[in-house]
Amino acid sequence: MSKTSVPAIEGWFTTDGGAPALLGSRCTTCGTYSFPKETSFCRNPACTGRTFEEVPLSRTGTLWSFTNNCYQPPAPYVPPSDPFEPFAIGAVELAAEGIVILGQMVPGTAVDDLRAGLPVELVIDTLYEDDDHEYLVWKWKVVGS
Ligand SMILES: [Zn+2]
Repeated sequence: MSKTSVPAIEGWFTTDGGAPALLGSRCTTCGTYSFPKETSFCRNPACTGRTFEEVPLSRTGTLWSFTNNCYQPPAPYVPPSDPFEPFAIGAVELAAEGIVILGQMVPGTAVDDLRAGLPVELVIDTLYEDDDHEYLVWKWKVVGS
């Protein structure tokens, strides 16, 4: 029996074929982007906007900062391994939206190979599995790696 693939967090990203995307929000008053989606107050302190539209965010960005995560993080970053194995986490700047988004780097990414400014792209990968389901999450992958 094959497992059913489901997003680990409903509504945070699309899993469409070759072009998955994070789903953020855009303030209809000032155009400020947010991820996860904003629903109540605009992040822009100078804006009183209260309405937001859901928008797919850029699928590529620039590695801004990164770290080797040596401690088991809280949900939704459930590690697929037991015992816990360290993995790299990247903070990726999306130029068009002007925001930085954290995510795991794809498995096999060596922190020693990372440097600020590298181009990265969004991929959808398995976060963890149970008997019936494969839970999906976004991860960052160095372009061309
Ligand atoms: Zn706003």
